[in-house]
Amino acid sequence: MGSHDHLFKVLIIGDGDVGKSSLLERYTNDNFTKTYKPTMGVDFALKVVQWSDSDTVRLQLWDIAGQERYTSMTRLYYRKASACVIMFDLTNVTTFRNSQKWKQDLDSKISLPNGCPLPCILLANKCDLSPWAMTKEEIDLFSKENNFIGWTETSVKENKNINESMRVLIEKMLATSDDLPSPSAQGEYINLKDTPVPGWGCC
Ligand code: GDP
Ligand code: MG
Repeated sequence: MGSHDHLFKVLIIGDGDVGKSSLLERYTNDNFTKTYKPTMGVDFALKVVQWSDSDTVRLQLWDIAGQERYTSMTRLYYRKASACVIMFDLTNVTTFRNSQKWKQDLDSKISLPNGCPLPCILLANKCDLSPWAMTKEEIDLFSKENNFIGWTETSVKENKNINESMRVLIEKMLATSDDLPSPSAQGEYINLKDTPVPGWGCC
C-alpha cells in the first residue's frame, strides 16, 4: 500500500463582495504556500490537507478576483476543475439569486470527464450578520432545485463552517475522481459493466 497524492482544482465563484477572497485567505492560511496577486483577473492559492495517514490532498483554489460583474466566466477559467464553491451573502438577496446564474454558467461550460456536473457546494456566507435576506427553507429549496451537492451557512469572519464545508467537497471529489488505479492494479481486465455511461446514472 503506497501513499496517494491527489491534486484538485477548485473554483470559487459568486458575486463581488460575498467573501470569496476572504475565504481563500482564511482557508489557506494554515497551510499557506503562495498567493499570487491577480494579474489576469485570477488569483489562486494552494491548500494542502493531510487527509489520512496515506492520502494527501492538494487543493488549487481559484478566485475570480474582480471579474464578477458579468456573472459569467471564460471556459479557460473552468478548465480541468474538479469542484466548485458558489458563495453568496446572506444579507444580500441579489447575490443569492445570482448564484443560479453562476451555477448555470458553470454547468454550461464544464462537466466531469464522465459527463456529470461538477460537484458544487453552495455557501451562504456572512451568517454572523443579521437580518438574513432569505430563509433557510428558501435556500434549501434553491440548493435542491439547482443541483448543488448541498449548502451551509458560513462566516469567514468568525471561521464558522469553513473547514467543515471544504471537507465535504474533498470527500465528494475523492469519491468522484478519476484517479488512476494503483500501479499494482494496472493492466487488469476492465469490467465495462461497471463503467458509468457518460451523463447517466452518476450524479
Ligand atoms: P469577494 O469580492 O467575494 O472576494 O469578497 P471579499 O473577500 O473581498 O469580502 C468582501 C467584504 O466582506 C470584506 O469587507 C470582507 O471583510 C467582508 N466579509 C467576508 N466574509 C465575511 C463574513 O463572513 N462576515 C462578515 N461580516 N463580513 C465578511
Ligand atoms: Mg475578491
